[in-house]
Amino acid sequence: MSRVNLVGLTPSALEDLAGELGASRYRGRQLATWIYRKGVVALDAMTDLPRDFRAALAERAQAAVPDVERVTPSADGSRKLVLRLEDGALVSAVLMPDDGRVTLCLSTQVGCGYGCAFCLTGTMGLGRNLTAGEIVGQLLAAGALLPAGERVTHLVFMGMGEPLANLGAVVPAIRIFTDARLGFGYSPRRITVSTVGLVTGIERLAREDLRVNLAVSLHAAADEVRSRLMPVNRSWGLEALMDAVRRYPLAPRQRVFFEYVLLDGVNDSPEDARRLAGLLRGLRAKVNLIPFNDWPGAGFRRPPLPRILAFQSVLLEAGITTTVRWSKGEDIGAACGQLREPAPAGDRPRPVPALG
Ligand code: SAH
Ligand code: SF4
Repeated sequence: MSRVNLVGLTPSALEDLAGELGASRYRGRQLATWIYRKGVVALDAMTDLPRDFRAALAERAQAAVPDVERVTPSADGSRKLVLRLEDGALVSAVLMPDDGRVTLCLSTQVGCGYGCAFCLTGTMGLGRNLTAGEIVGQLLAAGALLPAGERVTHLVFMGMGEPLANLGAVVPAIRIFTDARLGFGYSPRRITVSTVGLVTGIERLAREDLRVNLAVSLHAAADEVRSRLMPVNRSWGLEALMDAVRRYPLAPRQRVFFEYVLLDGVNDSPEDARRLAGLLRGLRAKVNLIPFNDWPGAGFRRPPLPRILAFQSVLLEAGITTTVRWSKGEDIGAACGQLREPAPAGDRPRPVPALG
């Protein structure tokens, strides 16, 4: 019988487990504190747990964190972690320090089944869903690489995979991240879940009342273009998607993020920008424009800088907060949409292009 992974069990599930082993629920709370608040996973090191409880626990359970197979530093300060899971599958997580923040980009699946035309992860197809333990384990593994006193401050579900297609693991992982007493204690406002636009997933995320930030990968403001780029749009078109987004509960001053990858000659004209502004009218929205990150064999190009800035200007003039997100880690294949493990043949680190 395979042993259950303690990492990824919510504090209340750890309390239940302690009870099942004949111990008090308090022992479960101690376990949660060791793992999530102190980042300690070795049962031997949990010295305030009775020896017989630890022995009983070791028979039923283990605390497993993915192995760090490789860490690749980028010229811009970000680091890509390639993590090996128990079955040998590889996923990446990206640590991005910036302006006093340390953001960790998390994967939720091995590969991805949604096949967006511009995304390298999409070429892998779906391997499998990650477990809650494998998602939480990415934070534990990344946290262990930081110097003492430094901490991951923000979490974004923007790595490999579609988070809303794996809510069974993503929801408990978020509960563990946000539990202020026995979990990591992150404010939900420091957590962002990005989706390709799964309407039922957005609805469920709203019902779970997690209050995390929602980021929607829009990439086109017309159904015809979006369906060409993102096959999911044929199931849920823009109207259904925007309806679900409008119903997503927002705290005062919270906004929905919209990601828009800029593809030369495909979705980057001033007319596209005006259509996007129209689509977002009346919404508390923030747009992140992501100039396309290249990968070997991609059939797209990044637009020239003036075109990117012109697109941004249209949105700004329409009163929509809009930033251009120059991806981190592009030189090491760690930028948005460049995650694939093993990396494709011929993918060599490239110099970071001089930007604006
Ligand atoms: N599956 C989710 C989470 C991944 S987030 C989603 O699609 O939202 C990764 C973000 O990078 C998404 O907005 C995605 O559309 C974008 N992206 C994918 N490939 C890209 C590329 N080659 N260049 C720039 N952005 C890309
Ligand atoms: Fe999957 Fe997101 Fe890539 Fe689309 S952009 S293939 S949903 S990871």
